[in-house]
Amino acid sequence: MKYWSKFFIPTLKESPADAEIPSHKLLVRAGIVRKLGGGLYTYMPFGLRAIHKITQICREEIDRGGGIELWMPHVHPAESWTNGPRWAAAREIMFRADSASATLGAAKEPEFVLGPTHEEIITPIVKAEITSYRDLPKNFYQIATKFRNEIRPRYGLMRAREFIMMDAYSFDANDESATTSYMAMKAAYEAFFRRLGVQAIAVEADTGVMGGSFSHEFMVPAEVGDDDIIYCEESGYAANREKATSAIVPKDLAEAAPVGAVEEFATPGVTTIAQLEAAPYNVAADKQFKTLVYIGDGKPFIVILRGNDELEEAKLGSLGFALCRPATPEEIEPVLGAKPGSLGAVKGTIKDPGALAGIFADRAIQLVGNGTTGANKDGFHLRNVNVARDLAITKFGDFRRVRPGEPCPVSGKPLKVRRGIEVGHIFKLGTKYSEKYGAVYTDDQKQQHLMVMGSYGIGISRTMQAIIEQGHDADGIIWPWPVAPFQVLVCLLDPQAADAAEMARKVAEAAEQAGADVLVDDRAERPGVKFKDADLIGVPLRITIGGKGLKEGVIEMKWRHEKDVAKIPVAEALERVS
Ligand code: ATP
Ligand code: MG
Ligand code: MG
Ligand code: MG
Repeated sequence: MKYWSKFFIPTLKESPADAEIPSHKLLVRAGIVRKLGGGLYTYMPFGLRAIHKITQICREEIDRGGGIELWMPHVHPAESWTNGPRWAAAREIMFRADSASATLGAAKEPEFVLGPTHEEIITPIVKAEITSYRDLPKNFYQIATKFRNEIRPRYGLMRAREFIMMDAYSFDANDESATTSYMAMKAAYEAFFRRLGVQAIAVEADTGVMGGSFSHEFMVPAEVGDDDIIYCEESGYAANREKATSAIVPKDLAEAAPVGAVEEFATPGVTTIAQLEAAPYNVAADKQFKTLVYIGDGKPFIVILRGNDELEEAKLGSLGFALCRPATPEEIEPVLGAKPGSLGAVKGTIKDPGALAGIFADRAIQLVGNGTTGANKDGFHLRNVNVARDLAITKFGDFRRVRPGEPCPVSGKPLKVRRGIEVGHIFKLGTKYSEKYGAVYTDDQKQQHLMVMGSYGIGISRTMQAIIEQGHDADGIIWPWPVAPFQVLVCLLDPQAADAAEMARKVAEAAEQAGADVLVDDRAERPGVKFKDADLIGVPLRITIGGKGLKEGVIEMKWRHEKDVAKIPVAEALERVS
């Protein structure tokens, strides 16, 4: 329990000139942050309590999702980055951190930099520490400060130069397992945002990389957001703009092969190209197994598998994704150099994979990961086609672009657009970093493989502000209970009166016993000031003690999100509170 007079919540009537959006104004007016410079803020005691609660809920959910917490340095030797795979792009937003007395010529490379994210740090740690399949999978995370020299820091904590992020990095033995880790994190994010009491939707995001990678952003719908959410109410499809405008539109595919229609294709016993060619199935593949055609029993059906460029026979199980749709014999013939007939009619290599891809240029659907494709000792499988709904539709070549207003790829209804705030991001990275840093493990056959990685971020401080953006009215903040810095505000109208003060103490203690965080407003202020401040700082439950009410033998209870005030007889009060 805290007494306001001894705590510190410097509320303001006016909002600062640089605050353009409601949540930024309220952050300052409710004494949650104070500005040091552009994109640099102090979390004041009241605000820090919310940060701690969000952090704790995040920790619990990421732990539940398999995360293991650690803490990495935030000052990085520059070599960590200059030797990494993205220094040229990343340095644009990175701060250099040399000693202040160093004379830095423009040409001189920095000696140290501040961490904007930690793939470059965690991957070498894992490379050094994990060598066996027995130690996989692992998912390491931290909840800590990040530094990015944003070109245009703005909107308070929304786009800051120094901010708090949960960042996690998963390492798996294979693609399928990496997808499982990704899905566990997606579920953890969903649980996290649900527990916070904030509406955040997972939208498909662009990875910019082909083959086995995919990504979701978590967006809080809000007018002031920097991002567009392109969505369909009917089907639940949602993507960010980059992703939606690069999506493949499977309109005729959706009709011809409705999502979920294909349960499983299997080629039992086939795990190598030699076996495939010898198999009594109507399949054909090019040498790299990048493209594979399957013409099903009388109903021609094409599956194009595309893996990593370096895909080899042995890696059949790590095929990245599949393109599928029914195809006509006329389409197939020029590509295969053979007429597909009934089962077993077509074998051989694909003459022209490029032409085959061309056939699909305007109407293919891409099925991504998550058990969609895979091989085990029983052979190659295509299954769970209904994951297409969840994950499908990523960039493939120059396919037609979906735009707001066009057919939703799932329902065919026009897509809508709304603004959103990106509060979290999950990313199936693949082997980009493990390859760069040589993060390999040895399997039970003493074979070495690259670890398959994922990376995940939640903007903790941005989320706090998004909660305010989503939960406020003209009078101030309306905190959701789980993250409220204080959950119960005992508003003591005449702190001088001993009986009222004693009553306030008892009520506050009872509320605290019941598990709430309690603030007692014992300041020597007029009731009007106290009520205005109470609304401004947004504590969910206000209990007013003193004044007329107490003389009448009642105390008042009011929820911040409701208009009505309940008058409760003093005798019942303690019971009601606990
Ligand atoms: P944005 O598109 O807004 O620039 P980002 O895609 O660069 O964000 P990520 O690298 O995905 O951000 O980082 C993970 C999370 O960190 C983001 O989803 C966001 O919530 C948060 N974040 C990123 N940049 C900032 C920032 N400058 N200030 C506060 N939070 C941030
Ligand atoms: Mg950014
Ligand atoms: Mg982004
Ligand atoms: Mg992002």
